[in-house]
Amino acid sequence: MTSHVFKQQVKEFMAKVIARNPGEVEFHQAVEEVVSSLVPYIEEHPKYKEAKILERVVEPERVILFRVPWVDDKGEIQVNKGYRIEMNSAIGPYKGGLRFHPTVNLGILKFLAFEQVFKNSLTTLPMGGGKGGSDFDPKGKSDMEVMRFCQSFMTELFRHIGPDTDVPAGDIGVGGREIGFLFGQYKRLRNEFTGVLTGKGIEWGGSLIRPEATGYGQVYFAEEMLKTRGDSMKGKTCAVSGSGNVAQFCTEKATGMGAKVVTLSDSNGFIYDPAGIDKEKLEWIKWLKNVKRGRISEYTGKFGGEYLEGKRPWGIKCDVALPSATQNEVNEEDAKTLISNGCFVVSEGANMPSTPAAIDVYLSSKILYGPGKAANAGGVATSGLEMSQNSLRYSWSREEVDSKLHNIMKNIHAVCVKFGKEEDGFINYFKGANIGGFVKVAEAMLAQGVV
Ligand code: NDP
Repeated sequence: MTSHVFKQQVKEFMAKVIARNPGEVEFHQAVEEVVSSLVPYIEEHPKYKEAKILERVVEPERVILFRVPWVDDKGEIQVNKGYRIEMNSAIGPYKGGLRFHPTVNLGILKFLAFEQVFKNSLTTLPMGGGKGGSDFDPKGKSDMEVMRFCQSFMTELFRHIGPDTDVPAGDIGVGGREIGFLFGQYKRLRNEFTGVLTGKGIEWGGSLIRPEATGYGQVYFAEEMLKTRGDSMKGKTCAVSGSGNVAQFCTEKATGMGAKVVTLSDSNGFIYDPAGIDKEKLEWIKWLKNVKRGRISEYTGKFGGEYLEGKRPWGIKCDVALPSATQNEVNEEDAKTLISNGCFVVSEGANMPSTPAAIDVYLSSKILYGPGKAANAGGVATSGLEMSQNSLRYSWSREEVDSKLHNIMKNIHAVCVKFGKEEDGFINYFKGANIGGFVKVAEAMLAQGVV
């Protein structure tokens, strides 16, 4: 069958998805990315077509929408929306983060839940896919306001989740502080101390290396891609976006492997430090973002360099781009600029940070492009390891968890090579991750009948 026929099939399939899920543009984008890789594969494996696996996999098993009322410090009542998308439980309990950000809506969470299904499958651990969150903005709120919000959020969510049902974690706007408040309320409502959330504090059921895992895994994945060309992270100049959890530990690991990170950003702008963000500077950034909860612009007052308001870091010359902030943060122009400046590795820490047109630029330029569902899977993989430790009522050492994480990233890389290697030897990680993630879920769905 020709690529023209495949394109037509994708178009027809997408027309149905768009009609059934109007206005959910990020969800449409995520589905189209996956389906465009899968259609040729499914043509060769008609059993998936006959069982309507694609039609089923784009429909969430359950969507929970709820009201989250809470009282702010002035005594005023505030109301936010709460969501949990339970997307697919074919290979394990629903698993995926909670995002608290004013832009959160159903379409964004469905895109994230959909991506999560394939990502979790790639980790080889038994986890289904889910995602949730709220349009609540923790920025500028006091700790007590965040606590009251989290308690109200969990007062509804608790009845839908559980250690064998659905295990949420953090994402944008949900870090250790929020997980603590959510866990405290769950425990109170259920009178149970169980591994119902991951990303917990070390003293109360968390796993060592969980905070580091997404960023570390993202850099391990970049290193694996570089190895296929006899190269390594050592000596590479890296542009990182974001300055939250993923960006911080991505910077830490890249620097630890001998690379130089020259940018970090937040939603207001980015900093450029040609001398590189070393260990000492990074420790200060962790304090700035996690304790003071300040803005990245404050960096230049302390360490020099430049702050570029309202801009993203992709115009800076680098070898490796590590997008670690949010979806659609690299567009076609950015991708072209990166490549014309010599960038030849993109390893995504964020979910879907590159637009479809940017991905086309990476693929046609044949650079090493690690899509988020493979490159950032280290976070959820380590959440899976946290679940195992909770079930065993045991804790592994830092070295044990890090070495398991490293091996998982190597395995994910190997799966992408298996399903993504093209005739001319080019490794299409985009295709490899989509097909590699799909097969296990599809086989489980076939075995479990029409459910
Ligand atoms: P954090 O909330 O810790 O940090 C998010 C960072 O991205 C902040 O610097 C934030 O800036 C910036 N950001 C958020 N929204 C925007 C925007 N619209 N435009 C520009 N910058 C923005 O989140 P994480 O580091 O946990 O998550 C970052 C990305 O990684 C997300 O895409 C998430 O889905 C993905 N991810 C996270 C995992 C995890 O384990 N935490 C696992 C896998 C993927 P500001 O402070 O101004 O909002």
